[in-house]
Amino acid sequence: MVISIAVFSPHRDLFKQVNQALPYLIESIDFEKNIPDQLCHDLFILDAELLDRKFYPHLMETWEHLFKEKPLLLVTDADRQVRHMELTNVCDFLFNPFSDVELNLRVSRILKTESFQRLSQEYTKSLEQNKQLEETNIFLRQLVITDSLTGVSNRRYLLERLEEEFLDTQRRERCISMLMIDIDFFKNVNDKYGHQCGDHVLAEFATILKKNVRRREVVARYGGEEFAIALFDTELHSAMLIAERVHQDVRNHVFHYQGRTLQITCSLGVSSYPEICPDADWNQLLRAADAALYHAKNTGRDKICLPPDSALIPPEAE
Ligand code: GH3
Ligand code: MG
Ligand code: MG
Repeated sequence: MVISIAVFSPHRDLFKQVNQALPYLIESIDFEKNIPDQLCHDLFILDAELLDRKFYPHLMETWEHLFKEKPLLLVTDADRQVRHMELTNVCDFLFNPFSDVELNLRVSRILKTESFQRLSQEYTKSLEQNKQLEETNIFLRQLVITDSLTGVSNRRYLLERLEEEFLDTQRRERCISMLMIDIDFFKNVNDKYGHQCGDHVLAEFATILKKNVRRREVVARYGGEEFAIALFDTELHSAMLIAERVHQDVRNHVFHYQGRTLQITCSLGVSSYPEICPDADWNQLLRAADAALYHAKNTGRDKICLPPDSALIPPEAE
């Protein structure tokens, strides 16, 4: 990276000395003639004599922001120094006359501090950008796996997690249970109260389901008014208890919508590995719960069923 330094002085001598002594790109800026809008130098060397000239107030007005941004090395006489303390970014002073060695030492000290500060600022900025990126990714991932109407997981996430957890369950020789839940005669809710009321009922229904399971378990909207719950490390007996609790909570819940109240029931299908489906994979476990749900629907609704025998995959012949 090329380092560039701007020299502001009414005398050509200062520029000459700096140019000869320093191995950087040096530019002399005569701001009595032209005042650039922007300066991209790494360091300013300012002759304090300029600050005593009549245009100094005007100069400061126009350039204040520029002077504030960059490190400033003030070349001055010992008695002038104190009067220019308002330039807060003065990093160092050089008292006339000064040697090339002294100039070199002071300039390289300022540049070292500056480049360190710039590096650490860039590092902090990139850390912040990474953090923002990570947060955006988490947010996007959340969007991708969430059902927007009800806030529970979507089917895609359920299938992903079920596949993962099922393998883990088998490896650890643990159990896993599945509930499939469908609202009874939901079409009537839409027909009688309107689609928006139907949406409201779906969202509240999902909240009842969530309330009945532990945080790490997956409650998902499987499609339409059908939901699924994956219960990890949960045997059939506990799964049945949870199903009963959900069933009752839904039955007892009074839904309110625009001054009207309504109640619904739901049907539930339960399957469990390994108790009910000893040879199942995750997909078969899901299909068994679905078969159980349809059994509940076909035999009167508003109840909890296990899969009928015909729906179970027979163990492979030995
Ligand atoms: P069953 O007891 O057999 O399940 O009867 P059902 O009326 O609940 O089932 P059916 O499959 O006949 O109708 C489901 C209804 O659910 C029809 C569909 O319009 C409605 N539905 C599906 N998704 C949504 C949704 O996001 N919002 C609303 N308001 N209704 C939905
Ligand atoms: Mg239904
Ligand atoms: Mg349905």
